Amino acid sequence: MKSRDIFRESIFKRDNHKCVVCGEPAQDAHHIIERRLFDDGGYHLENGVSLCGPHHIEAEKTTLDAQELRDIAGIKKIVLPKGYHRDTRYDKWGNIILPNGQRMKGELFYDESVQKILSEVLCLFADYVKYPRTKHFPWSESVGRDDDVLSDLSVFDGKRVVVTEKMDGENATVYSDGYFHARSVNGNEHPSQSWIKNFIQKFYFDIPEGWRVCGENLYARHSVKYDALESYFQVFSVWNEQNECLEWSEMLEYCDLLGLTHVPVLWQGVFDRDEIHKAFLNSRNTDTSEGYVVRSEGGFHYTEFQTSVAKYVRADHITEARHNWRMRWHPSDVNKIKTLK
Ligand SMILES: [Zn+2]
Repeated sequence: MKSRDIFRESIFKRDNHKCVVCGEPAQDAHHIIERRLFDDGGYHLENGVSLCGPHHIEAEKTTLDAQELRDIAGIKKIVLPKGYHRDTRYDKWGNIILPNGQRMKGELFYDESVQKILSEVLCLFADYVKYPRTKHFPWSESVGRDDDVLSDLSVFDGKRVVVTEKMDGENATVYSDGYFHARSVNGNEHPSQSWIKNFIQKFYFDIPEGWRVCGENLYARHSVKYDALESYFQVFSVWNEQNECLEWSEMLEYCDLLGLTHVPVLWQGVFDRDEIHKAFLNSRNTDTSEGYVVRSEGGFHYTEFQTSVAKYVRADHITEARHNWRMRWHPSDVNKIKTLK
């Protein structure tokens, strides 16, 4: 479905031009999940419901829940933007709804209009933040169906960057209150999560209040086999209570303070595509390097993530196996580390 008009027409037609909630004449073809989160505008029949004026406002405020709307309208198929997980619940604006009813801030949370519209439910938001998706560089060799490409490279022009090895583990975020979550919030209980929950007990109380530490949990083996890791938990960013990613040097200080290891650095300097790629190829251990991540050396706000961080993933990296690692996992599939940390 291409245009707004066709979208509106087909939604109204399906719902007999009536608000699906109260049966009053329909006034709005409401996007169940915000169109700005989709790269195609989200004009899918299953992403729309007919609503009257008042119910439309409630749906926008999210006091009328996205799943509730699907249920009332009899929509079985859940249409989500790229990179969103089917086993996770989202509100209209892409914020995650946790099993306890609290919400986790999503990519549009800080948008001014979204802040305004969510004013009544802001109290539901926990201080837990979804880790943003990292865009691929145009020369990345392994861009999946769900992945986005950074089209405007000029965001790195003249900027000092840090290039780190992309580690093949599971994204983990640790908060100052000892809470922890993986990239997918509702991930099944897994031995690698037990390991990190245990590990966190050694340092979470030293994280400043409202801050969080993000890193790679490398306990379980995914598709790359590691035999000499510095640690099973390797930090790649630390965020303060303003939701700002600390500059790299400050992050290193915090790693020292907390007794944590960071992901391996491959290169550092003013952004230079060729030099960076060369550094990767030179450093690369063919069996254990999935690719690299480039981030701005300076700090940046959460909302600037997708113009401050980008990645390259090599071609022969098996993404299929990666998605199924939880199911394939066997107790012997544990990576090896140099010294127990
Ligand atoms: Zn209504």
